[in-house]
Amino acid sequence: MSNQWDFETRSIHSGFNQDEKTGATVLPIYETASFAYDTAEDLADAFQGRKFGYLYSRIANPTVTAFEQRINALENGRGAVATASGMAAIATIIYALATPGDEIVSSMSLFGGTFQLFQEIFQTFGIKVNYVDPTDILAFERAISPRTSLLFLETIGNPKLDVPNVSKIAELAKLHNIPLVVDSSLTTPYLFEAKKFGVNVVIHSTSKYISGSGHTIGGVLVDLGNYDWFNCRSKLIKEVTAKAGDFAFLARARRQILQNTGSCLSPFNAYLQHLGLETLALRMEKHCSNALTLAQFLAGHPRVDQVIYPGLPEHSDFAVAESQFNGKFGGLLTIRLQTLERCFQFIRRVKIAKNLANLGDAKTLLIHPASTIYYNCSEAEQAAAGVYPDLIRVSVGIESIHDIIKDFDQALAEV
Ligand SMILES: *Cc1c(COP(=O)(O)O)cnc(C)c1O
Repeated sequence: MSNQWDFETRSIHSGFNQDEKTGATVLPIYETASFAYDTAEDLADAFQGRKFGYLYSRIANPTVTAFEQRINALENGRGAVATASGMAAIATIIYALATPGDEIVSSMSLFGGTFQLFQEIFQTFGIKVNYVDPTDILAFERAISPRTSLLFLETIGNPKLDVPNVSKIAELAKLHNIPLVVDSSLTTPYLFEAKKFGVNVVIHSTSKYISGSGHTIGGVLVDLGNYDWFNCRSKLIKEVTAKAGDFAFLARARRQILQNTGSCLSPFNAYLQHLGLETLALRMEKHCSNALTLAQFLAGHPRVDQVIYPGLPEHSDFAVAESQFNGKFGGLLTIRLQTLERCFQFIRRVKIAKNLANLGDAKTLLIHPASTIYYNCSEAEQAAAGVYPDLIRVSVGIESIHDIIKDFDQALAEV
């Protein structure tokens, strides 16, 4: 499908147009573990890579491929690998690029699950993670060493809502020939054009805005085609270039990591998330406009101590966010209500907003991060991630903004 088309057109027509045999316009779900061949020679050719062919759904599946191709078209990438979850996408990238003795320079403002993955798995496997303030370019520079195998950050820190200047960090990454890996789950390809800002590999938790209704868990990584894997620090990737050339990173991700760890996306989840992509642009517009209106309302509310939203001019990263995300600021905001007790009261009193761990749902969602996602982090680790006992994270849904405001207002009146 043409890369010349606008985002909305690509999100509906790329990767799958219609079924060649039946004319079905909705992506078929290939619920099959394996794929049969007429002759032993044909199967051997497919296994040994002499001919393209599906083998086993842990490695690739036609429904999942269509989803990967659609995401890849939206990111203008070289190729994509879908995974069982956002966490699996991040783990796949680290396994692909780093080996024991290597280092990662990562933003300290991270989604709780990513921080736990780094601490509980990769650090124990001998991969050291150096955490830095993502808005401090010099801190990145200082943390880079000859053993650094990737830089990692989130487009908008979840839940700190700080916004790193991605092109500045990309310049630094390029200077040191280190791949820049960015988690764009909060911004999606609609708000953040990762390739334009110099990102080399972008990941999404597709459980969030891409699925759009909180129905399935999934993830994806996209090689944006702007990193020279022939000159990569990783010996393992260099080895793969002998066979796969420019596709070495994707080949290692799929045929060495996904295939061996089994972290593949199920065809049914790929089907639902592929469908989600068709309405992504429309939904993101509404998430962003609702979040901005709610943030402005809460900023003027006497019972709210502080509102953090990158779309408020008083936010320290407002200008970076405005230029990086096409004048939009995403669907997440946080509020501080002075005490944990008041947060719990507020969560009890709201009627529309649901209290749960997800984000990026059509429904408005709330969570108290300190007692949930970050409950086993130290106070210092919590503060580094922007988590405080009196903070609530709000994922603003696409309901009527009048109703959301009414609901928040009545609940605040009671705290
Ligand atoms: C949710 C989330 C993840 C993890 O994704 P899962 O699909 O839940 O595994 C990673 N990064 C960010 C920013 C997230 O919000």
